[in-house]
Amino acid sequence: MPLQLLHAAQFAAEKHKHQRRRDSAETPYINHSIRVAAILNEVGIYHTGVLCAALLHDTVEDTDTSPEELSERFGSDVSGIVMELTDDKSLPKAERKRLQVEHASDLSYGAGLVKIGDKIANMENIISDPPVGWSLDRQQAYFEWSRDVVSNIPNKHKGLEFVFQSTYERGMRHFAELREPKP
Ligand code: ZN
Repeated sequence: MPLQLLHAAQFAAEKHKHQRRRDSAETPYINHSIRVAAILNEVGIYHTGVLCAALLHDTVEDTDTSPEELSERFGSDVSGIVMELTDDKSLPKAERKRLQVEHASDLSYGAGLVKIGDKIANMENIISDPPVGWSLDRQQAYFEWSRDVVSNIPNKHKGLEFVFQSTYERGMRHFAELREPKP
């Protein structure tokens, strides 16, 4: 494994060290970043810069990391991908979600890969241990919004698109089962 990947994992772990996922297990945040990189790797994506960007994708949005810090340590290609994936947190949440759908069509190939991996990882988490306090409707709305974002990404990697679609369908079956009236 390229050393740069370990450095990216170490950097992201340090930056996210005080953050937890919103699941009932309060999973350390870094588990999510590592899972996104693993999802890409599992479908045959080995590009070091893309995998580094997957590990680092939430550092600028959710920690005190600056784009300059990323480009100094990991180069401008990696920081460029991370910045493509960084939402403007000064905007209201609904507007940010709308912009993700709209801007998905402009993503570079590498940023599109990480974006799809991110959505798959979040959908897996919703199926296995959803964020505390999320209703079934909200969980399902996340899946539908993710589908809208991903469908606007151009030139998708076939294997990754297949994993996204399978996870989406698994979620829909899961929600239908949970909604079924108990006998
Ligand atoms: Zn993420």
